[in-house]
Amino acid sequence: MRKLWFDLRRSLQQAEETTTVDHAVRTSEPPEPWLVLDVNTGRLWFTPVNAPRPRSLAIAATHIDGPPPADEPWPLYRQPLTEPDPNHDSVLNRLRAAAQQGHRWLVADVSTPPRLHTTSAYDTDTVPDTAVWSPAWLTAGDLGPYPGQIAHGYQHNGSVIARFTKATVQRIAADADARAAHTPGRDADLLALRDYGSGMEVLMVRAPATPAGPVPGDESSAVGMRHVTADPDGWYRLTDDRWPWRHATPPTQPPNRTRGAHEHDPDVFEPNGHDGSRCTVCGATGYDITYEELPSMAGYGTDTTMSCRICHSSESYAEEIGWSRRRAPWPPTL
Ligand SMILES: [Zn+2]
Repeated sequence: MRKLWFDLRRSLQQAEETTTVDHAVRTSEPPEPWLVLDVNTGRLWFTPVNAPRPRSLAIAATHIDGPPPADEPWPLYRQPLTEPDPNHDSVLNRLRAAAQQGHRWLVADVSTPPRLHTTSAYDTDTVPDTAVWSPAWLTAGDLGPYPGQIAHGYQHNGSVIARFTKATVQRIAADADARAAHTPGRDADLLALRDYGSGMEVLMVRAPATPAGPVPGDESSAVGMRHVTADPDGWYRLTDDRWPWRHATPPTQPPNRTRGAHEHDPDVFEPNGHDGSRCTVCGATGYDITYEELPSMAGYGTDTTMSCRICHSSESYAEEIGWSRRRAPWPPTL
């Protein structure tokens, strides 16, 4: 099936602008914003009903899966943006909720009629240049955590897409060698590095077990080799099924249990705009700040947690424990 993948945040931003724009030409009709989808060209835009087509604002699909429509072109697909559906919800509200949850993509499944849904990640091992990278702490198996960056909205077979600086790659390679030395009877996934001065090459190799154990840095007997060079930003993307990268909890000091006892610690979050918050550790705002409320384990009251998706700093209040605060080291460094 043909699938069109649109950047959810850009789409939402334009949808919001469509609903708040002060129309130069006022008509007696209230503006009814619509989502319009051109399946043939993979473009999406938002418009008041009957308004001229705002070509310059069209959002092109970042990814298009599947062949174009075969026979005749598909008609434009339109959906009202703010009209409540049978569940008393609107497309706009559902897009807002999805972005709040951390979803990154607005996906159109091209059937009759097209179906729209949202999701958090596009699965690929080749991330386009348009991807947004943000700092993260990462582990693979029992190795790590290491400071690196992840491509927002992408995954490969369920793992995040991670990249690292040269110095971090060297540290990961050394850790993998040390792990192999401790488990001589097992195949070892290693990083063999070749430094040419002008640049470093990384060979992601699986060294078969030998009676003496794998030989660190020896790729002569390796199977399943993947060859990695620095990307245009000078980072190394270690994307491979044998290195299933995932988010790690950053190393940090034990959380403070009472607010009063640690007044010199600045708050993790500060107000930002009308009802938003800003992470004072990494500067993230908006949808990257999450807020959760749960009935307290104490049996009365509410436990709350505010946390930052980017650096994983958080501030919690639990009836039984009081305030706790966790400031992640930032930016991630060796
Ligand atoms: Zn943060």
